[in-house]
Amino acid sequence: MSSIAFDIPDEIRALCDGLEDFLKAEVVARHEKHHALLSNGRNTYDENGRYTEEVIGLIREVRMAAAKAGYYNMCVPEDLGGSGLGMLAYYVAWEHAFRICGPHNWMAVYAISHWAFGPSRLLERVTEEARGEILDGMLEGRTSMCFGLSEPGAGSDAAALTTKAVPDGNGWRISGRKIWTTNSPIADYCIIFAQTDPKRAAARKGGISAFLVPTDAPGFEVESIIAMHGAVGGNEAQLVFEDIRVEPSQLVGELHEGFKNAVFGVSMGRIYNSARALGLARWSLELALDYAGTRQAFGKTISEYQGVTFPLAESAMELHGAHLMGLNAAMLLDKGELAIKELSMAKAYAVEVGARAIDRAIQTHGAMGFTNELGLAEAYNTVRVVNVADGTNEILRRTIAHRLLGGDVEL
Ligand SMILES: Cc1cc2nc3c(=O)[nH]c(=O)nc-3n(C[C@H](O)[C@H](O)[C@H](O)COP(=O)(O)OP(=O)(O)OC[C@H]3O[C@@H](n4cnc5c(N)ncnc54)[C@H](O)[C@@H]3O)c2cc1C
Repeated sequence: MSSIAFDIPDEIRALCDGLEDFLKAEVVARHEKHHALLSNGRNTYDENGRYTEEVIGLIREVRMAAAKAGYYNMCVPEDLGGSGLGMLAYYVAWEHAFRICGPHNWMAVYAISHWAFGPSRLLERVTEEARGEILDGMLEGRTSMCFGLSEPGAGSDAAALTTKAVPDGNGWRISGRKIWTTNSPIADYCIIFAQTDPKRAAARKGGISAFLVPTDAPGFEVESIIAMHGAVGGNEAQLVFEDIRVEPSQLVGELHEGFKNAVFGVSMGRIYNSARALGLARWSLELALDYAGTRQAFGKTISEYQGVTFPLAESAMELHGAHLMGLNAAMLLDKGELAIKELSMAKAYAVEVGARAIDRAIQTHGAMGFTNELGLAEAYNTVRVVNVADGTNEILRRTIAHRLLGGDVEL
């Protein structure tokens, strides 16, 4: 039974069935086997808040198993060595993965190459020399990377970044700092955005370039791990760069035009996060429906009270809308359109209704809703923070408004 009239190709549906089997065998099974390590932050992170070596090893195992099984690189372009399935497959597969795995089996995030941590269209912009050096390891899932754009003084207004790449012979030396860089504590490479022409950067006319830098390069330091709400460690960090030497072969895209890479990457991030919010919210709604059908109060199951079921119906309406918007935005991208307005609407809407649906699922469960055992509060945290990551919902509204005022009024 399907409530979606969109034509999802059989190839993508079959892939999701296979992915589900893979996730159960390689992700859920690992979480069950290493429950104490992966479900208790006191064991998952070391004293500095970084994943322990054992956890990093398990993450690598998942990436490599997914690469071998054909899921990790399914949406990586064919010219890079992937299966080239595109954004609809990316959306559908991620949504399915989060719905199946929920928040507990969090290593699911390494089963498909995330655009900022693994191979993606972004790597089409690295030089031939860099491809030769990094591509095999990245496609095998042996190595990973991170995306260093945001700085303490440059978040939504990312072009205000002050990290500098100063000419040094035929290359540059990078100095500055980054913040919130996800996966940087365990990554092998970082794409660093830096000013290469401060005058053009100040005038907002280019002047920013992107460089692919090994995280063990002299001058590259993970200064501190950032623990987000409810966690004792994390995979976001503050980075400090001191005179990192980079060669022309490390440029990503064109000199002074690196900011285009950021816009390009973030659009993949918005598809991913729309899918993540929907998948986790559907997981929570299904949990709430099960609970409402069994929990007794005042001599009846609570599903007999409209005060319990109407909020769940509200969630279903909103999540269905988010689903249609996500599928539509992904299909537009696959047609070669930028879908700026549609992608912004899909991501902003999915994280708002997703967080609301998880909140309602918490309420349906009463006190049980807040236990670590159920993971609903963890799912809420995950989706709530996406309201900020990859463009805040205010910035997305600003983008939507710009498009509307510019004449893009098709809805
Ligand atoms: C979990 C997580 C992971 C992240 N991972 C990465 C990563 O891997 N790499 C990376 O480079 N960055 C990453 N980020 C950073 C993220 O991109 C920024 O947090 C985001 O762009 C917002 O910037 P800010 O936090 O500095 O908020 P600010 O830009 O300081 O915004 C503060 C508030 O002001 C509002 N605001 C700002 N300007 C306007 C405006 N013009 N109109 C209306 N409201 C406005 C914002 O919406 C927000 O509510 C991550 C963030 C999070 C939370």
